[in-house]
Amino acid sequence: MGSALATPLYFRHRIADPDPTVKKTMALRPYIVGNWKMHGTRAMLGEARAIDRAAERLMKAEVALAPPFTLIHATRKEADLIGVGAQDCHPAEGGAHTGDISAPMLKDAGASFCIVGHSERRSDHGESDGVVKSKAEAALNAGMSVIVCVGESEAERDAGRAEDVVLAQIEGSVPRGEGVADSVTVAYEPVWAIGTGRTPTTDDIAAMHSAIRNKLVEIFGNSGEGVRILYGGSVNPDNAGEILAIEHVSGALVGGASLTAEKFLGVIVAATGDQRD
Ligand code: PEP
Repeated sequence: MGSALATPLYFRHRIADPDPTVKKTMALRPYIVGNWKMHGTRAMLGEARAIDRAAERLMKAEVALAPPFTLIHATRKEADLIGVGAQDCHPAEGGAHTGDISAPMLKDAGASFCIVGHSERRSDHGESDGVVKSKAEAALNAGMSVIVCVGESEAERDAGRAEDVVLAQIEGSVPRGEGVADSVTVAYEPVWAIGTGRTPTTDDIAAMHSAIRNKLVEIFGNSGEGVRILYGGSVNPDNAGEILAIEHVSGALVGGASLTAEKFLGVIVAATGDQRD
């Protein structure tokens, strides 16, 4: 990987001051990412605009949105402060792949990061860890940062295999290489918690995030300490404060509660203790 990856794009985009201590300080802010999934037409751009306007006052968090592909360009134009990203990309730069979209196309449309390996992609499209890793590499090569999603099913948790499953997914789907740790975020999203209103106990989240941290240090050495680990799965304004206070939880990937500015800002306020006005 080239040195262009050493400074993640979201920092280059948001911070003119190249002072490395600034980057470090900003990296400590919780990273709150909204995943709009297959929701949203242009009528929803007002929500993105409202989130962006509020982000100016909610500086204790780094905020980003991943709208559907069709809204990336328009969201980028509406939003100056928040990160705008994609929910998936194809591993190839281009070619005969009808209906797919490549990382360079997403970058061109205004995306600065790409989510890969979401459990809905893994289940709906049979994406293996190897495929997820190729997609992550494609996104990095296009100059975007990546959010690599991992998470166990309910049956796997009930069988006491949650940690083994998640660590194996990280082993297989997280890209490697010099400088890559700076551009990778891991999102731990238990499949059974997504969209269900159920969440693991704080102890279970703490145990999993700690295991993930150790795995990232095994993979990246000291740089693994700085990789952000998001929690995702039924985060809402009522539970975000408690979840974000857990050690090694660096932020949240938020689905349902990111679809309106009202709820998403509620998550951000709860996560940071920030004031809205
Ligand atoms: C998600 O799909 O990434 C997610 C976390 O969804 P929800 O917040 O709706 O559970």
